[in-house]
Amino acid sequence: MTYGIGTNCVQAGYRPGDGEPRQVPIIQSTTFKYDTSEHIGQLFDLEAPGYFYTRLQNPTNDYVAAKIAALEGGTAGMLTSSGQAANFFAVFNIAEAGSHVVACSAIYGGTFNLLSVTMAKMGIETTFVSPDCTREELDAAFRPNTKCVVGETIANPALAVLDIEMFAQAAHDHGVPLIVDNTFPTPVNCRPIEWGADIVTHSTTKYMDGHGVGVGGAIVDSGNFDWMAHADKFPGLTTPDESYHGIVYAEKFGKEGAFITKATSQLMRDFGSIPSPQNAFYLNMGLESLHVRMPRHCANGQAMAEFLSAHPRIESVSYPNLAGDKYYDLAQKYLPNGGCGVVSFCVAGGRAAAEKFMAGLKIAAIETHVADARTCCLHPASSTHRQMSDEELVAAGVMPNMVRLSCGLEDAADLIADVEQALAQLD
Ligand SMILES: *Cc1c(COP(=O)(O)O)cnc(C)c1O
Repeated sequence: MTYGIGTNCVQAGYRPGDGEPRQVPIIQSTTFKYDTSEHIGQLFDLEAPGYFYTRLQNPTNDYVAAKIAALEGGTAGMLTSSGQAANFFAVFNIAEAGSHVVACSAIYGGTFNLLSVTMAKMGIETTFVSPDCTREELDAAFRPNTKCVVGETIANPALAVLDIEMFAQAAHDHGVPLIVDNTFPTPVNCRPIEWGADIVTHSTTKYMDGHGVGVGGAIVDSGNFDWMAHADKFPGLTTPDESYHGIVYAEKFGKEGAFITKATSQLMRDFGSIPSPQNAFYLNMGLESLHVRMPRHCANGQAMAEFLSAHPRIESVSYPNLAGDKYYDLAQKYLPNGGCGVVSFCVAGGRAAAEKFMAGLKIAAIETHVADARTCCLHPASSTHRQMSDEELVAAGVMPNMVRLSCGLEDAADLIADVEQALAQLD
């Protein structure tokens, strides 16, 4: 029996047995007790399922990961301590020194840094392509050592919509998976796997949590990518892992389980970026209302985008679901029910006017956060993207006078009145 997205938001991932807690229990324990060393040995060898140390796996975290996997329509999922860790693990699980990555240039500043600076130091090179590239330009970015393609369904903060189908087809024609960061639309508004994405990542810190409570991330595997069919490209999945007595992940766990099992048993073991069970519990509380909250975020975002686009003080508005937006057609295809509550816009008068406008807001708070129940705003050029050169800023779709406004769950009329009075202060 398959359920709708709302039922899965509320109930997927955890099914209590007779007399067990109705709410997901917080298993706040680093370790688990066994009767024999032999049994623990089987767990270490991945010969038997079970928990032994929370750095690798914890039941609370697994319940919530299973819910997110169900929401995305994937076969396996895992939580990480942050969205940064999720994106790092997703790429590093299949790339190593000497590998190459193709990434869309319109991505979160932290992901851009991760790929262009930190992973470059590890010997993994990235070629960035425009979100508006043609198929030919995209094909030209691939090299024999390319291991994956990376993009965001709706880019933070540029709000470019990824042509998931085209990027997936290109990735598959070159024998590699497409990794899509689906943080902004959440699976309520878009399920990238249905359009060909192979791996989906999240910063659960954003809408999934939705209340600004806990930093976290998630990775979901579609179970569709055939690692064995491209065995030469992905030796980590298709040749024996000596640290697990020669297990071949793609053989033992199949297409459905290999990616997440490897990421858990190698990357979590060695890097240890786990969320606390307490934070996973908070995340689950957010997920229980995700399908109810997202339409309100989108309605507020839509009303705000329409108001701003008619205001003389505003040079331009980016909101994919706004008629006339550069990404309107892609939004109609991938996000027919709305994308997110985040609106980006450029304030006439340059960087100084953008900063003055933000200081005049009363409801919207200036925060390095987005996708929260409370409306917040940010000036990316002086915060999340301040390490970028002007050319890199433009390539990422971030103008110096651009404001990112994340519409929360308040009344749209109040949010618009707040923006209106702050713009009036520029006169
Ligand atoms: C915030 C964000 C990240 C990073 O997530 P953290 O939870 O802050 O580590 C990655 N991708 C996108 C699209 C984001 O918005």
